[in-house]
Amino acid sequence: MSFLLLILDGLGDLPVKGKTPLSAARTPNLDRLARQGIAGLFYSVSRGIVPGSDTSHLSMFGYPPEESYPGRGPLEALGVGLELKKGDIALRCNLATEKGGKLVDRRAGRIEKGADELFRSIDGMRIDGVEIIAKHSSQHRGALVLRGKGLSAKIHETDTHGLENQNFLRCTPLDRTDSALKTAQVLTKFLKRSSEILSDHPLNKGRKLPANIILTRGPGQFQPVQPIEERYGLKSASVAGGALYKGVSRYVGMETPDIAGATGTFDTDLEAKVRYASDFLQDHDFVFLHIKAIDNASHDGNFSKKCQMIGKVDKLIPKLPKEGHIAVTGDHSTPVAKRRHSSDPTPFILSGPNIRTDKTTVFSEIEAFSGGLGHFEGKHLIPMILDLLDKSHVYGA
Ligand code: ZN
Ligand code: ZN
Repeated sequence: MSFLLLILDGLGDLPVKGKTPLSAARTPNLDRLARQGIAGLFYSVSRGIVPGSDTSHLSMFGYPPEESYPGRGPLEALGVGLELKKGDIALRCNLATEKGGKLVDRRAGRIEKGADELFRSIDGMRIDGVEIIAKHSSQHRGALVLRGKGLSAKIHETDTHGLENQNFLRCTPLDRTDSALKTAQVLTKFLKRSSEILSDHPLNKGRKLPANIILTRGPGQFQPVQPIEERYGLKSASVAGGALYKGVSRYVGMETPDIAGATGTFDTDLEAKVRYASDFLQDHDFVFLHIKAIDNASHDGNFSKKCQMIGKVDKLIPKLPKEGHIAVTGDHSTPVAKRRHSSDPTPFILSGPNIRTDKTTVFSEIEAFSGGLGHFEGKHLIPMILDLLDKSHVYGA
């Protein structure tokens, strides 16, 4: 007995001329699951909350974000394959371009070639007893880890998300504690040294937009949580391309391989992901399969691309193992008209042995509204899965 949770990132939407992307897409296989199974509307965190992808996944995996959210930095760092120790400060970062003390491009022209080597050139510094680890993830992006005694994540981001920023090489503390002050000072020294190293780097010679500084955001302090197998008795595995999703999975202790070709973009290798998920379902209780590009199309406001990607996912359904349970939903809604996450619940379908069915015939936001599962929240998901897998305990006697 196994349970597959297929998450289509940002799936939920609002009607445009009477149709949502999900209701407009051709989805015969998802509709069949809806007919055979039971549907509902799903609030991954809770009503009225606009979930980030990080908090929504934590909530779905049974780790209430209000207790267990370490900030985005540690999750990204785990996602790019860095090991974290208790107390580490982790941050997301960008390679960026400055000229004459002015920030001119926050992404260094979305640098691709050589970004890996540039990150290696600033990796492994030691400043005031703090070790600093730098690792490239994709394009201009990477992760930083500060490891040492008495550090704090209460520091400002040096990336203000705009070009008006003039103090991009200076990190300031958010509170007056010694640990925040120390962390800000160490990071400032690191940013200055990095800018010297990067400015002199041969790979930056002749680049129109040299990747000569680092901007930081999403600082967080790592605290380990109880692994999902220990906490819920679920032997779990994760199949995802995007660093954040691999990071959340590793954070809760799921087996999370790096899959060649799984990129978290439109051209991700869906076949490879299905192969991994199918293999994992042989000997795991809970398998998480994540598809990101639907959210990317939503943020771009691209209705037809969102439909197209949903259609592609639909074709994968027959390739997945038939036995066991499958649930399909989103981690939140990202309406194309808004181009951002919203608090609207996502449609949810569940199919497999020993479940009731309802009158739902297609997979859509509108039909899911009157589905037999009703309207429920992320915190209900793991208990439901445990009961379906005969792993729950009677409450009382
Ligand atoms: Zn998401
Ligand atoms: Zn998003």
